[in-house]
Amino acid sequence: MITIALSKGRIYKETLPLLAAANIVPAEDPEKSRKLILDTNQDDVKLLIIRATDVPTYVQFGAADLGVAGKDVLMEHGGEGLYEPLDLKIAQCKLMTAGLVEEKPRISSRLRVATKFTNVARRYFESRGEQIELIKLYGSMELGPIVGLSDLIVDVVDTGNTLKANGLKPVDHIADISSRLVVNKAAMKMKHQQISAIIEQIGAAVA
Ligand code: AMP
Repeated sequence: MITIALSKGRIYKETLPLLAAANIVPAEDPEKSRKLILDTNQDDVKLLIIRATDVPTYVQFGAADLGVAGKDVLMEHGGEGLYEPLDLKIAQCKLMTAGLVEEKPRISSRLRVATKFTNVARRYFESRGEQIELIKLYGSMELGPIVGLSDLIVDVVDTGNTLKANGLKPVDHIADISSRLVVNKAAMKMKHQQISAIIEQIGAAVA
């Protein structure tokens, strides 16, 4: 049995053709089903439909053999217990810091940064030797600087339209983001033949 962890939405849609290249076709559409485990055209391949931020955790602990996760999510998770054999080149964006277009004086003595990517932000500002005060948020980070919660945010940016619509501008580029195929390290050994065939077929489809 091979299980593949995926999130609904953009990653699912863009991963479908890549899975098809490895002859893996879901039996149902997760957007229309409430099932968390989907059968596929192959008896021994199942899909787990889970939150994007949970994908690395399921794969790390071997609850899924393979997964598709954004590099932003992997950077935040830390990548423990995972191989990252393929850049799928889908869901591309950038991880950036952003602040108000009309800059204001700092809220407090230390730079305040609001983000759901607290591990990434901590490492990034540490590497620049900057002491910050981190504020963990779960969404709508763009509000932070507007309402005086933070000086900066760390978020994923695609077109930049969301920042612009909220009076924010990108400041520093932290990393280029795309979705990656991740593999549980133990599964890679135990199910080597099956998993390496999938990696090879998906890799060929990406190229
Ligand atoms: P933007 O095109 O910059 O206005 O992006 C709008 C919002 O979509 C951003 O604030 C992100 O939350 C989200 N977003 C854009 N691209 C991605 C991506 N590749 N992965 C996850 N979220 C994204």
